[in-house]
Amino acid sequence: MLFLYGVKNKVLKIIPLQIKKVQCQNCHTSNIQINFIGRYVHIFGIPLFSIGKTGLAHCTYCKQQLSKIQFTPPLRKEYQAFENDVKIPIWFNIGVIIITFLVVIPWLLALSL
Ligand SMILES: [Zn+2]
Repeated sequence: MLFLYGVKNKVLKIIPLQIKKVQCQNCHTSNIQINFIGRYVHIFGIPLFSIGKTGLAHCTYCKQQLSKIQFTPPLRKEYQAFENDVKIPIWFNIGVIIITFLVVIPWLLALSL
């Protein structure tokens, strides 16, 4: 099914954690990886603007997934340590940039005449 508009998710970075203090709650191994996910609003598949990023913890052994609100305190600490290193790419806002150049700047130029 074709969606004309909506929200898309894109994995920005995957960070494997091999730290004993961060264990999977399900299988108690240390095979956790954190996926940083960028989110943007799109029209016809073209990114319009970014609506931020979120995190997802994933156990590579038992495949359990935890959303950011389900993180344990040690996992949340590891997430926050890497959070500022993961940047949202500028192309997530390409729709707003194109609209600015096609609509707002000509409108401002027309006002100044
Ligand atoms: Zn597990």
